[in-house]
Amino acid sequence: MGQQARSPLPRRIGVLGGTFDPVHIGHLRGALEVADVLALDELRLVPNARPPHREQPQATPEQRLAMVEQAVQGVFPLHVDGRELLRSQPSYSIETLEAIRAELATDDQLFLLLGWDAFCGLPSWHRWSELLWHCHIVVLQRPDADSEPPDALRNLLAARAVSAPAALQGPAGQIAYVWQTPLAVSATQIRQLLANGKSVRYLVPDAVLAYIEAHGLYHAPN
Ligand code: ATP
Repeated sequence: MGQQARSPLPRRIGVLGGTFDPVHIGHLRGALEVADVLALDELRLVPNARPPHREQPQATPEQRLAMVEQAVQGVFPLHVDGRELLRSQPSYSIETLEAIRAELATDDQLFLLLGWDAFCGLPSWHRWSELLWHCHIVVLQRPDADSEPPDALRNLLAARAVSAPAALQGPAGQIAYVWQTPLAVSATQIRQLLANGKSVRYLVPDAVLAYIEAHGLYHAPN
């Protein structure tokens, strides 16, 4: 009797969106920690094209993408997914997740990582109730945060939340919290330091610092 090829184990893929203007150690350390908790095979950092009515990033899409590429090069399991920057108009998260899901095997597990504030704003997202068809949602919760969800999310949490990330089953459809103490660093702070002529060494990886300096990014106009 011929032996049947065994299908490989389902892959575990995480998605972390952000403006990354610029990417910094808060993003990167947080990404590694959550990748470890979820035992991810791959964690994709997805730079967002910011919608026209919001404050525009200072660096160009190409520069933001290049900095994330430099930051994650050779670092397992971090990767960059530039698809939102390659479109001519800002994409909705649901479209990005549909596109990524379409590229995966049916039983691969997809995890959308959202900070608590982003999660609370979910009901205002385009086609938000379809997100769980394609992925699990992992809420990055800080120990000191107010943990009362808005009313619009109460029923969803009651139906879909599991007790721990390890309890997330199947390719999509559930919600879990990961508790994380963020490093006290933000892209806003980094841009301000640079605009004031200060150093951001050690707040960003050395390769990102070199890129910022080589391209004269975030400096106040002379
Ligand atoms: P800005 O200061 O320009 O608003 P930011 O530093 O908050 O930017 P974003 O690109 O908006 O960075 O972040 C994308 C995601 O990265 C956030 O939703 C959050 O989940 C995560 N993140 C941002 N800063 C940190 C941090 N210091 N520690 C851990 N995770 C972070």
